[in-house]
Amino acid sequence: MSELHRFIFDGLPVRGMVVRLTDAWQEILRRRAGPTGAGAHPQAVRELLGEMAAAGVLMQGNIKFNGALVLQIFGDGPVKVAVAEVQSDLSLRATATVVGGVPAGASLSQLVNRGNQGRCAITLDPQDRLPGQQAYQGVVPLFGDRHEPLERLSEVLEHYMLQSEQLDTTLVLAADDRVAAGLLIQRLPVQGQNNLAGIGAQGSADAGGDAGGDVSREDCIGLDEHYNRISVLARSLQREELLTLDVDTILRRLFWEEPLLRFEPQVGDHGPRFACSCSRERVARMIRGLGQAEAEGILAERGHIEVGCDFCGQQYHFDPVDAAQIFSAPGGQPPVNPQVH
Ligand SMILES: [Zn+2]
Repeated sequence: MSELHRFIFDGLPVRGMVVRLTDAWQEILRRRAGPTGAGAHPQAVRELLGEMAAAGVLMQGNIKFNGALVLQIFGDGPVKVAVAEVQSDLSLRATATVVGGVPAGASLSQLVNRGNQGRCAITLDPQDRLPGQQAYQGVVPLFGDRHEPLERLSEVLEHYMLQSEQLDTTLVLAADDRVAAGLLIQRLPVQGQNNLAGIGAQGSADAGGDAGGDVSREDCIGLDEHYNRISVLARSLQREELLTLDVDTILRRLFWEEPLLRFEPQVGDHGPRFACSCSRERVARMIRGLGQAEAEGILAERGHIEVGCDFCGQQYHFDPVDAAQIFSAPGGQPPVNPQVH
């Protein structure tokens, strides 16, 4: 079963998490592949999406936030968009849009950053948005401080965490067709420093390019000896170990000399699991958003409206009667010119 484990280092300003997505990740792949396997993404795309799913769970698990954390990559290569969305209850879904061929063993740049135009966006979308309240979105490029392309998603997200939270973060991510897994180590904020939970009020933190010039913030980054030591240990974790070892073994191997305090793992109904938030109702609202003329155009051409969910594969079918109901239901009509009434 998929699991999320949290831990702290007793008396040290460092915390961490390990996620292992097994059934949840396999379900996402299975739905994408379809009954014949024909819909499966190329392997490099599956691995990227798996790393995004694992990272999304870690990032959602790292904040106190009631809503969806949406991790998106907008690529300028064959992967146009890749999305992993994790709710605060840790239910998750993921999908990607791929256009054209993907070379075997394609690197991150080859997938999403051929012209250094790729972007990674992290959106916090509150569950019960107040009127006028915006989702918080931070955007980071897929290149480093010297404009060198980054070849690991973990590096991209470490940049993001540093910029959005001013906290050193170490991420190790890996995915294959069985497991999507990740390890996160983070320096704990001391004395009410910025953290992600408070960032919603700060508006966009679009990083654009360089890490910014705030010297005082940068001064305290990278200086905690305990964090630095634990980070080095974390980075020694090999891909194969992360994918194949159980969490107890991973933590024992890496941190056997450290004062590790572990919390009750989140598994099953309380852990990461696949769920899609699509519904017939939502699709109907989307069709309503298209407008009646557009919907009638589709009906005239095809006899029905068929909408498939990219995340879970569910097909929603609307015949002319269904469509008429969408537009005749109370509140279904766009406001008519008030002078008519
Ligand atoms: Zn769905």
